[in-house]
Amino acid sequence: MNRLIIRKVAVLGAGVMGAQIAAHCANADVPVILFDLPAKEGEASAIAAKALAAMNKLDPAPFAAKDRVQYVEAANYGSDLGRLAECDLVIEAIAEKMEWKLDLYAKVAPHLKPDVVFATNTSGLSITALSAGMPVERRARFCGIHFFNPPRYMPLVELIPTADTDAGVLDGLEAWLVTRLGKSIVRARDTPSFVANRVGVFSILAVLYHTQRLGLAFDEVDLLTGPRIGRPKSATFRTADVVGLDTLVHVLGAMHATLGEGGGGDQRDPWAAHFTTPAWLQALVAKGALGQKTKCGIYRKQGRQIQVLDLHLQDYRDSGGEVFPDVEDILKLKSPAEKFAQLAAHPHPQAQFLWSIFRDVFHYCAVHLGDIADNARDIDLAMRWGFGWAQGPFETWQAAGWKEVAAMIREDIDHGRAMAAVPLPAWVFEREGVHAPAGSYSAAEDALKRRAALPVYQRQLYPDRVLGEAPDDRGETLWENAGVRLWRRADQDARIGIVSIISKMHAIGDEVMDGMLEAIARAEAELDGLVIWQPPPFAVGANLQQVSEACRAGQFDLLERMVARFQHTAMAIKHAQVPVVAAVQGMALGGGCEFAMHAAHRVFALESYVGLVEAGVGLIPAGGGSKEFALQAHALAQRAAGGDVFPYIQTAFQTIAMATVAKSALEAVQLGFGRAGDDVVFNAHEILHAAIRRARAMAESAWRPPLINPQVSVAGRNGIATCEMLLLNMAEGGFISAHDYRVAKAAATALCGGEVDTNSRVSEQWILDVERAQFVELLKTEKTQQRIAHMLETGKPLRN
Ligand code: NAD
Repeated sequence: MNRLIIRKVAVLGAGVMGAQIAAHCANADVPVILFDLPAKEGEASAIAAKALAAMNKLDPAPFAAKDRVQYVEAANYGSDLGRLAECDLVIEAIAEKMEWKLDLYAKVAPHLKPDVVFATNTSGLSITALSAGMPVERRARFCGIHFFNPPRYMPLVELIPTADTDAGVLDGLEAWLVTRLGKSIVRARDTPSFVANRVGVFSILAVLYHTQRLGLAFDEVDLLTGPRIGRPKSATFRTADVVGLDTLVHVLGAMHATLGEGGGGDQRDPWAAHFTTPAWLQALVAKGALGQKTKCGIYRKQGRQIQVLDLHLQDYRDSGGEVFPDVEDILKLKSPAEKFAQLAAHPHPQAQFLWSIFRDVFHYCAVHLGDIADNARDIDLAMRWGFGWAQGPFETWQAAGWKEVAAMIREDIDHGRAMAAVPLPAWVFEREGVHAPAGSYSAAEDALKRRAALPVYQRQLYPDRVLGEAPDDRGETLWENAGVRLWRRADQDARIGIVSIISKMHAIGDEVMDGMLEAIARAEAELDGLVIWQPPPFAVGANLQQVSEACRAGQFDLLERMVARFQHTAMAIKHAQVPVVAAVQGMALGGGCEFAMHAAHRVFALESYVGLVEAGVGLIPAGGGSKEFALQAHALAQRAAGGDVFPYIQTAFQTIAMATVAKSALEAVQLGFGRAGDDVVFNAHEILHAAIRRARAMAESAWRPPLINPQVSVAGRNGIATCEMLLLNMAEGGFISAHDYRVAKAAATALCGGEVDTNSRVSEQWILDVERAQFVELLKTEKTQQRIAHMLETGKPLRN
């Protein structure tokens, strides 16, 4: 397969999707030209420029680091069309109107590179009809590329070819999206709304229908359709408010036009009568209650109280609601088969509601599998990646007993209880399920289909699996204790060990430190390198439970030894005689961050949340984190005129005192938790592969463990005093408490190498001793102990 080379991207349309897609390309080091209509007045590219300026105010942030915005140029169709010739991939994301899109295609086509790939982000229009708007010779490189909002964070991208799309182009684009942008791909057919929205919007319609039929309240339904059934916390109606009720009405309207009564032609959907928009929803939109963006929708905030629309009252009331105790008990059942049987049999409206929404989605998916998707796995993964469901509909059904559930659905159809009368397809009754080790069922081909064999997927050692698929290779265990497992994958590189933290939340306690030391010793003796990897979180820090217990027992000597052991472990990671590579994904906080900082190299997943957050529990980094920042300041100062370390300490001081957490791998490197040469991998499924390869490359090349620096130049007394001045201002302004002051001063003391003369030279061990002493002193204070207790109880920091 020829690699698809994409040096520059053009995004057409700087709206909600276009601007964020552009941002994510820039995150991945792909420069972008972002086009929109020429502005009526002022700067011609003002529309795109304004959209870009707004990006750094959005939460969650589209840019993985604020300065990435400089890699997106604002442009307009009036004066900049010639610049399209610079771009290898054009993604069209303008408003959802066929005529507007076709007009634009006619306008841009003459300016495109001959071998450009042109893709549309439409969610509802026919890709084939849009392709017809392109000159014939361009249609082989035209397809749909359907991102989900927000595009940086939602894994799913649906790729939709037409009959003319070149298979090699599509493979190349898929590989690029997977590894460069880190997306998860489902190949969809050119059917209305493709896969995820077709099922996802139907699922919303089913919820709307049964909510009304059973007379449930919106807040009650949100309690039922959130995490209790493996769906996002915002559940159904809260999500609708976040997405925008106008958008929901628009989507329902579009589906009404394609699939609803009167629409669709030969695609007419057996559920057509349900593709309508409820009157109450139309009424909300008509009066401008669009959800979160207008601060009023299905929910609204009155002071501190969250209120919900109540259709019986025709007004808002305080939200709350509760799950009926029997239903709560049923939802807690371990066996999915039991759960579904009991829900279907229980007369309470909440139980009936839950069974009904599952039944109708199962029914819908079974009937449509053959026409909307290549196979059942694609529907399940589309729902996980595009809608955040923990399990797709087919997996859920199969887990609950395929045949039993099929019989229950058939009975409901026969008795007119299902939303449509269409029978389940015959294949449902001929099978035991749709997922098997040999592949997932394709109704169109009546065969099991394996996963795509594109080379890019060999980088994913542990892809997202659907229930029923062949299990993953867990590798060969070399050694383990209660804290870590040392293992290897013979099919990858049998001489690179993998050490995985296996404690709860991957907190670092005695057993993890013991295990890590043993793993390093074994790797030094028997292997060529070591990777620290575990599924996210990487590690949330020291085991506070152990710390808290020792505090309560007044065992401060023991605590001191614990910290010394932590430092010893971090130093063992850093100075191991084989390269140790940390593969970081998700949270790497406190001690977890310190382990990563001490590794010879880091392979970060883009979505890594890294920070030294000890201040939140009234402590400072003492597992070598403060020392690492002092070393960084020393190294940076060596290169600067005057050689003064303090300017570099000051930024680290702020980072630590404020317990700043990097919200991406790029920020982690900027803040000094990583280094410029570290790897940032956009697809988290690839980090283990990349880390093993990195360890191998280091072992094969000139890598050697760093020396321990006996002469670190430190900021000393003047440094501490200057940090204190910053703190005094904040304390006087009432921004920090007396204990915040104390904690921050301890951090300053550690970072500055203690009360020594400014610019004195001290050893690394000296700084470790200072940070450890400061840490233990803080542990002895009541306020720090309160903070720790509060964190253990509530999971949140206490401001005292
Ligand atoms: P939007 O309304 O936020 O932005 C549309 C952009 O199109 C605006 O910048 C506007 O200036 C521009 N535009 C309007 N009329 C135009 C014209 N005649 N010619 C050229 N440009 C014009 O829309 P959006 O939500 O970003 O959606 C863009 C596309 O992405 C649509 O096809 C939509 O279906 C699809 N999509 C949206 C979402 C979503 O959640 N919003 C998700 C996936 C796909």
